[in-house]
Amino acid sequence: MTDTYMAADLPFSGSPVVPEMSDGNKKIQFQCKKGISCWNACCSNIDISLTPYDIVRLKQRLDLTSGELLKQYTVPYELEPGGIAGVKLRPVENGTACQFMKPEGCSVYEDRPTACRYYPVALLSMRKQDEYTDTSSYALVKEEHCLGHQEPRSLTIDEYRTEQGVAEYDELARGWRQLILKKKSSGPSIGKPTKRSLQLFFMVCYDPDRFREFVISEGFSELYDLPAEEMGKLLHSDTELMLFGFRFLKQVLFGENTIAMHAESTARRLELAKQKLKQLENEASEKRAAEADDMYDSEED
Ligand code: SF4
Ligand code: SF4
Repeated sequence: MTDTYMAADLPFSGSPVVPEMSDGNKKIQFQCKKGISCWNACCSNIDISLTPYDIVRLKQRLDLTSGELLKQYTVPYELEPGGIAGVKLRPVENGTACQFMKPEGCSVYEDRPTACRYYPVALLSMRKQDEYTDTSSYALVKEEHCLGHQEPRSLTIDEYRTEQGVAEYDELARGWRQLILKKKSSGPSIGKPTKRSLQLFFMVCYDPDRFREFVISEGFSELYDLPAEEMGKLLHSDTELMLFGFRFLKQVLFGENTIAMHAESTARRLELAKQKLKQLENEASEKRAAEADDMYDSEED
């Protein structure tokens, strides 16, 4: 199965995705059903990216911590060179098949990832440079081994999405998609992300149990002013924690402040930022003075 997950810059060249974008009203001819002769062919050669909500569903399904799930069932990859990371399903040892594939089908079917639900449709999420909201369009993936395209059933992409239950998955991954698109479209203008911000993005998006520990740490509550009721929700719901995480990343990475901070910590941070700026200015002026000295010395010679 090919990774059908969203991208603003999906490489069509050489890809099985038909490069024709459509909206949800587009009719497709497709049906996947037990007994079809290509049964499980799509899950025998996987390239499946996971959304944060996919992680939440799978960890709950398998009763694992996010750390255990990441270790056993995923591999990290770069969503952009040197930039933010994504995670994909890890295939079986020395093979290409999905670890969840069983002769009778998907063993995590009710909690299967977004890309598996969408297949053979690809969701393409795009965002204009000056807009914050993303828009979705779709393309059809036609792989030779998939005989579902020959089945005599036609339905719209929207009907297919409803049948596959993707609306909830899309809605809950929206904040994550926006973060990625915003990061990609801001490009090098905001500079190379620091190692710490990349680690933070990874923890918040893919390792919710570690993020929860971070949220209940003393350092976090010294800085952020979360009402007890909201904190309670984050402690008990992976989904609430994930949604809070997207807000947290928007605040930390892009300065979109929606989480209240304690006044004294804000003042402290401002003071530290001022000191840092002053230090940078001093270093720059010392450098300029040294360069002027060098120039003067070489003219003397
Ligand atoms: S999670 Fe299920 S549907 Fe998705 S690739 Fe694995 S076996 Fe197939
Ligand atoms: S019809 Fe396509 S999606 Fe269904 S089992 Fe065959 S290859 Fe997989």
